[in-house]
Amino acid sequence: MLIVPEALIADLVTPEDAYAAVEACFAGMARAEARNFPVVREALGEGRQYGFKSGIDTAAGTMGVKAGGYFPGNAARGMINHQSSVFLFDPQTGRPQAMVGGNLLTALRTAAAAAVSISALARPDARVLGMVGAGHQAAFQLRAAARVRSFEKVVAWNYHPEMLPKLGEVAAELGLPFEAVSLDALGAQADVIVTITSSPAASLMSAHVRPGTHLACMGTDTVGKQEVEPALLARARVFTDEVAQSVTLGEAQHAIALGLIEESDVMGIGAVLIGAHPGRQSPEEITLFDGTGVGLQDLAVAAMAVTRAREAGLGTTLVV
Ligand code: NAD
Repeated sequence: MLIVPEALIADLVTPEDAYAAVEACFAGMARAEARNFPVVREALGEGRQYGFKSGIDTAAGTMGVKAGGYFPGNAARGMINHQSSVFLFDPQTGRPQAMVGGNLLTALRTAAAAAVSISALARPDARVLGMVGAGHQAAFQLRAAARVRSFEKVVAWNYHPEMLPKLGEVAAELGLPFEAVSLDALGAQADVIVTITSSPAASLMSAHVRPGTHLACMGTDTVGKQEVEPALLARARVFTDEVAQSVTLGEAQHAIALGLIEESDVMGIGAVLIGAHPGRQSPEEITLFDGTGVGLQDLAVAAMAVTRAREAGLGTTLVV
């Protein structure tokens, strides 16, 4: 069994690698070559959440689980709030193969998922990126989005406005003008909106969003979280990574509970990637990607880290 610690990941897996791995994983799901197992996610109190995301990809030969969660007290301790580890097993024998630090990989694969959705569903002429959220993941999201469209400006809103200047630094790194704005101004300008918050209630309302916008709603990955008004999902063509997760613990959970949409209204994005669904059908349509985060994404990027570590002779081998 190979241990690939968190500190090695940045040298082993690039954002471009993560994009390719996530795109292949969504396509594999649409071809029924790969499946996610039901998610376990439990509230521990004081905002802490812990759980397991797992699955098997028969085409890629990966099986395993990501164990981890969200611990909002960590920032005050000098650690990021997300903590996770990925465990890979041989799909034929069940023997453990690797344990891989999952923190950077989670950020890379989550940003890659949003970018895959932007690439597949946003209007090609999208020029203004709207960011709702300014925490740890937001910086990765901004960088990944900027790789798939020629944005000319970033507008951003955050519930805690004091966090926005740090996101502005990321925009500056990319050479993009950055403006902190109200949600009204964000929706009025943005062609693409990424939401990436731990919000328990909708911030972005349907009235904020103009026709033709693509939204990647990435923060809601647990029962009870919510970033956008359910009416927005009723107005949009809704895509997701995994329908079962979207309707139970993703952003769609609220629109489903209110009877505004049905499960059959939510489409796996893999179908668009393999050409089985047309995706966006007009420049005026609102498209919304409900990115809930699937175990197969974690396995795909962890397997890549393991391959690279083996090639470079890095990591620690344990006999178990
Ligand atoms: P973080 O703790 O670094 O940042 C939290 C963000 O949420 C900040 O922008 C903060 O201002 C905002 N926020 C906090 N309370 C809020 C409230 N009451 N209303 C509105 N906004 C509020 O967290 P992070 O690591 O950036 O993660 C952000 C979210 O993304 C979390 O909910 C996390 O679980 C989720 N996430 C999802 C996936 C996925 O695959 N879908 C993967 C990783 C993280």
